[in-house]
Amino acid sequence: MSKLNSPSYVMRLMQERGFAAKKRWGQNFLVDKNILGKIVEAAAIGSNDWVLEIGPGLGVLTKSLAVQAQKVISLEIDSDLVQILQDVVTEPNVEIIEADALHVNWKELFTSLGWGGEPVRLAANLPYYITTPLIMKALEGDMDFSTIVVMVQREVADRMAASPGSKDYGVLSLAVQYYTNAAIVANVPRTVFVPSPAVDSAIVKLEPQPPSVAAPRDELFQVIRASFQQRRKTIRNALKPLAKNWGITLEQLDMALERAGIEQNIRGERLSLEEFSELTVNLMIGV
Ligand code: SAM
Repeated sequence: MSKLNSPSYVMRLMQERGFAAKKRWGQNFLVDKNILGKIVEAAAIGSNDWVLEIGPGLGVLTKSLAVQAQKVISLEIDSDLVQILQDVVTEPNVEIIEADALHVNWKELFTSLGWGGEPVRLAANLPYYITTPLIMKALEGDMDFSTIVVMVQREVADRMAASPGSKDYGVLSLAVQYYTNAAIVANVPRTVFVPSPAVDSAIVKLEPQPPSVAAPRDELFQVIRASFQQRRKTIRNALKPLAKNWGITLEQLDMALERAGIEQNIRGERLSLEEFSELTVNLMIGV
């Protein structure tokens, strides 16, 4: 078991290397082998699998992933950490790449490193400031993941797994549920990181699946975004600008709502993915 699970070892390592954690890049290092084990177990990595890790930090998760996977590709934005990682992570099946994970084409990178279509899993203790764009990139990009296991802020995990009508329910919930089966694997206290962040975390497991609803994706998400843009408005009022954009009259909007079995005065935050799909299909009939 790697010493990187020990808070005192991590603090000593940082001191010896003259490294101070940078808040702007969300540098909170995991120092708990129980939580580490939960991430690795949830990722369910097979010996043939490749793994994409975002933000290896000091390498604690990287080393555990390397035990299970055929190959681990770890993208780290901070050149100071890349230097430390080169000494700490000596496993031959790990590639540490200095890069901004949001701005790299993952599929091209994997192919350039010899990937031949093996299953790919994403595993990461994500820097908080890029959680949503990173997850959207994983869901909508051209790389197909077998599983996505990420540690995120507790509040974001709640939003991802939220049901219609709850305060956390929104565009992120619907996007995650459109592309995947989502589950919170464990809640994680802030005390298991060095330095400790200001909020608690959670491990989320996303299992990608083909969409289960009929509406075309782009139109569906236009309707969803319009419905949540003004959360307090009724669905009818919230959709008026979009209807106008699509060249749909108010009568047609009312008819689409009726055909989808949705009351005009309800708020979008009460509608399920299936209801949004039904509404989108009926709105498109009017176009
Ligand atoms: N995986 C390590 C762990 O569990 O201890 C570190 C996790 S720390 C929460 C997030 C890591 O992501 C940091 O190492 C940070 O430098 C890195 N990072 C931040 N923004 C990044 C980006 N855009 N692309 C790649 N890495 C990034």
